[in-house]
Amino acid sequence: MNSVDFLLTNKDITYEIRTEIKRLGKPIPDLIFPKQTIYDRFKWLCGCPKRNKLFCFVCLVMGGNQSAWTLEGCLGKGRHKATD
Ligand SMILES: [Zn+2]
Repeated sequence: MNSVDFLLTNKDITYEIRTEIKRLGKPIPDLIFPKQTIYDRFKWLCGCPKRNKLFCFVCLVMGGNQSAWTLEGCLGKGRHKATD
């Protein structure tokens, strides 16, 4: 349930499910990036093994602003700002 793929393909998630996903925590799969240290450095960062991209867990779960960090994913470059 707490996978990027689930969050991207299920847009109408109830508040209860969002809370459960937050409780489960962010998905930190091994991607093409230098191990999982990147997940420690950026607390909001999560990853999708299917797309091999990084996403913003907070925006995905809580429905934040739409950006590359919530739509197609990023490759670790570029900042994630509130105005993205
Ligand atoms: Zn975000």
